[in-house]
Amino acid sequence: MRHIAQFLLSAFSASQFPAPTAPEIAFLGRSNVGKSSLLNALVGEKAARVSSTPGRTRAINFFLVQDESRRRRCVFADLPGYGYAKISKSISAEWPKFIEPYLAERPALALCVCLVDSNIPPRPADRQLLDWLRSAGRSFVVAATKIDRLSGNERARNLSALRKALDTEDIIPVSAKTNDGIRELWARIEASAAKERADPSP
Ligand code: GDP
Repeated sequence: MRHIAQFLLSAFSASQFPAPTAPEIAFLGRSNVGKSSLLNALVGEKAARVSSTPGRTRAINFFLVQDESRRRRCVFADLPGYGYAKISKSISAEWPKFIEPYLAERPALALCVCLVDSNIPPRPADRQLLDWLRSAGRSFVVAATKIDRLSGNERARNLSALRKALDTEDIIPVSAKTNDGIRELWARIEASAAKERADPSP
């Protein structure tokens, strides 16, 4: 089913977060992991374009996302990419200070979609982020990006290495190029959103 994204706002501090009106889905990943491309595959070019606008790349960009029937709504929160730079115990020293409070405290946050590049060996920063989400009690799913670049054997090998390094079975291989895994990722997003609608977090 087609989805429509409407840009809400770019938040540069916690005071700018929109009032939570629908289950929220956060997108996280290192720079260049393929986040804009994945957003594009999920909800169309608009979200990807806004999120890569200079000046907005260090903000949390919020989008209202609806299916065509406009019956089911959720909010996508596109978080700034975390860098290759030195990783502190708070994930990345570069990461704006309001990201962690967002992840820890945002009431409507139903699911974190954590992007990792399936083409490169797992990075400690990704594991650190997942461990942090685990300790914060947040649900997450890993999207292994750019899967189209790998042959069948490489795919199996790299996914197995990711499962091991990240200590999770919950990995959806995706490609923004071929749309592999997009339907599955949407199903996961919808399931988390439905759960949040039925039983809102306090
Ligand atoms: P971002 O910095 O995380 O937003 O990453 P982008 O979406 O801008 O993608 C970074 C680079 O990876 C670009 O050159 C994209 O064309 C490429 N890329 C992203 N997704 C895919 C994919 O699914 N398949 C392939 N082959 N390339 C991709």
